[in-house]
Amino acid sequence: MKILVPVKRVVDYNVKVRVKSDQSGVELANVKMSMNPFDEIAVEEAIRLKEAGKAEEIIVVSVGPKGATETIRTALAMGGDRGILVEHDGETEPLAVAKILKSIVEAEGPGLVILGKQAIDDDCNQTGQMLAQLLGWPQGTFASKVVVNGSDVDVTREVDGGLETVKLTLPAIVTTDLRLNEPRYASLPNIMKAKKKPIDEKTPADYGVDMTPRLTTLKVEEPAKRSAGIKVASVEELVAKLKEKGVIA
Ligand code: AMP
Repeated sequence: MKILVPVKRVVDYNVKVRVKSDQSGVELANVKMSMNPFDEIAVEEAIRLKEAGKAEEIIVVSVGPKGATETIRTALAMGGDRGILVEHDGETEPLAVAKILKSIVEAEGPGLVILGKQAIDDDCNQTGQMLAQLLGWPQGTFASKVVVNGSDVDVTREVDGGLETVKLTLPAIVTTDLRLNEPRYASLPNIMKAKKKPIDEKTPADYGVDMTPRLTTLKVEEPAKRSAGIKVASVEELVAKLKEKGVIA
């Protein structure tokens, strides 16, 4: 079985994002970019399935600017086998990405597509679900455990107040939640080896997909600044202050 893992290049999660002065978006110039953290978890899960003999090949795909090649290389250094860069400068909305992924799935025939549950830049949480719909495949979203048994996959999902396990018939879509695994760091020898792994270069036009955004961003704003707190000397003073502010009666 092949596993397809879509990875998005996003602003590194450690970066404190700044809103552009014209409020049209966030500042991307000279900002550290990395693989979306949920996609690292997806790559790790694919590698574990391959190591367990459940998969033979891991194909990593990214839709994004030339710089997304770096993101693909990171996934190849972790253990992916080959990459596909679908080069596009500018926004990549979930529906357009899902349409591209559908064409790649049709060409490659993977048994599993493992995506992140959401990209931390747009927080859409839509691409996996849209891809499942476009392909007519079953989906197990927010996975915290994935067990492949022959022609099925059991996906344990994090739902409000507990866990739910669903059985999907392969081929299927899985999206990863935070507690699925802890992604490995790529070792130096594997980083060197990854430089030689093939990355195919494509464009959205190769798949007949129009990338024109369907959404218009009206305004991006910083969260309201929190005012400074005060120190109180005792519980009595705390209670008095809370009463004064109307927090407690
Ligand atoms: P989203 O629906 O945008 O929150 O993204 C969910 C998941 O879809 C991500 O974690 C990735 O696995 C995948 N994805 C979204 N956008 C892209 C992209 N431009 N290139 C590759 N994968 C993507």
